[in-house]
Amino acid sequence: MKLVFATNNLNKLKEVQEMLPSSIELLSLKDINCFDEIEETETTLEGNAHLKADYITKKFGFNCFADDTGLEVESLGGKPGVYSARFAGEPSNSENNMQKLLVDLETKTNRKAQFRTAVSLNINEKKFLFEGICTGEILRKKQGEKGFGYDPIFKPEGFNQSFAKMTSEEKNKISHRGIAIEKLVKFLSNYK
Ligand code: IMP
Repeated sequence: MKLVFATNNLNKLKEVQEMLPSSIELLSLKDINCFDEIEETETTLEGNAHLKADYITKKFGFNCFADDTGLEVESLGGKPGVYSARFAGEPSNSENNMQKLLVDLETKTNRKAQFRTAVSLNINEKKFLFEGICTGEILRKKQGEKGFGYDPIFKPEGFNQSFAKMTSEEKNKISHRGIAIEKLVKFLSNYK
């Protein structure tokens, strides 16, 4: 079965393909000649994940899944959440986003946060949703060089280093996206 992952991120694509049974051929947006900019206009992670998967299924006719991730900070009422990529304004800039978050939390003692990923799957006219959460806290300063986005200031619960100090294998085992994708893979592996 051909299945589109509505992403242009080749790292994400490779990671998921390696986890899937060989009966599923994963295609990127480029593979189906989709070069459209799909705007994330919804106000929830689930809404954006549905929007992206639906766009591809409706326009190109493929079974498809899409993901959306946000960092939810408890003392900020769940912000930046769905707006994580553009927290410090557009164009999206991870350095500015982290600086803004560190300043916004300067006086806060509650530094609890979680990354949350929503994955929306359209398969044979049906729709399924998978969620992955990784709880942790926002550090007071950046730590580590690996990863992307907010990784240098996010320390997952039960660990004593930031995501940016972990290898991608270590991170994928416990990360929001890793957990959501694992649920998707389990579902697809048993799908008849
Ligand atoms: P996306 O939905 O995967 O594009 O993620 C939206 C935004 O959330 C990104 O631009 C990053 O700022 C942030 N983000 C998502 N996943 C991670 C992660 O694993 N580590 C750090 N930041 C992330």
